[in-house]
Amino acid sequence: MDLSNKVAIVTGGAVGIGKYISLELARSGAKVVLNYNRSADAALALVEEIKSFGGEAFAVQADVSKYKDAERLVSEAVKTYGTLNILINNAGITDDALILRMTEDQFDRVINTNLKGVWNMCKNSAKAMLKSGYGRIINISSVSGVMGNAGQTNYSASKAGVIGMTKALAREFASRNVTVNAIAPGFIETDMTQKMNKEMMDYWIQQIPLKRAGLPQEVAYAVSFLASEQASYITGHTLEVDGGLVM
Ligand code: NAP
Repeated sequence: MDLSNKVAIVTGGAVGIGKYISLELARSGAKVVLNYNRSADAALALVEEIKSFGGEAFAVQADVSKYKDAERLVSEAVKTYGTLNILINNAGITDDALILRMTEDQFDRVINTNLKGVWNMCKNSAKAMLKSGYGRIINISSVSGVMGNAGQTNYSASKAGVIGMTKALAREFASRNVTVNAIAPGFIETDMTQKMNKEMMDYWIQQIPLKRAGLPQEVAYAVSFLASEQASYITGHTLEVDGGLVM
């Protein structure tokens, strides 16, 4: 994919799936504004890695669940690179428990990061992206938001909400060459899935037609396609990258 001269923000872009997305977009020629919340060392190391192959990137600390942080993140991107074309809302957390045990704080924290965080970033990016004449918003949802998952009333609700938001915004921006799509990964090998116990993981692998977990790079390829010119007639779509789990 050729993303030369495009400016991209990747939230949670320093580790896990976000790291692979940042690398893939940079390899495709995009200038990457790499957001991190806590992983400062990983973010700085990734910026150096991107520069080592001739890519352009810089890192910005921001907590996407905070409106003011999202506003500052977008304004630093536009101030540095002059425009904004691609927004990847990747930042996300889990905090699982069955509803009888889940606290209100667990629910709020996950919704504020995974759902409000996406809205904070879309809201603050809208002006620059509409002005740029080429916009791609890609929201990382989850199969949990499509099919529901016991123990994840907070997470499944946040990720289903992201799919609804994606469709609403796709309709709002369609006339301005800004597409808005979601990706719903299945089980991808990152720190997030390392938290699952082995029995649970084995159970899910059995449900996956491809009989394996996915790799973060496999999500990154889907992101770079949706960010590209080649995906110009796709909007409001949720692309499952899940080895066939949800079909
Ligand atoms: P991960 O390894 O746990 O990474 C989570 C990322 O989110 C980190 O980059 C983290 O940044 C960032 N983050 C969390 N809270 C943030 C906040 N308030 N502000 C800014 N960044 C924040 O998880 P992952 O597996 O890569 O997940 C990435 C995305 O894919 C998430 O949205 C997740 O829900 C989704 N997903 C993952 C899977 C999977 O199987 N792994 C499946 C479906 C969907 P710092 O480290 O800098 O704090």
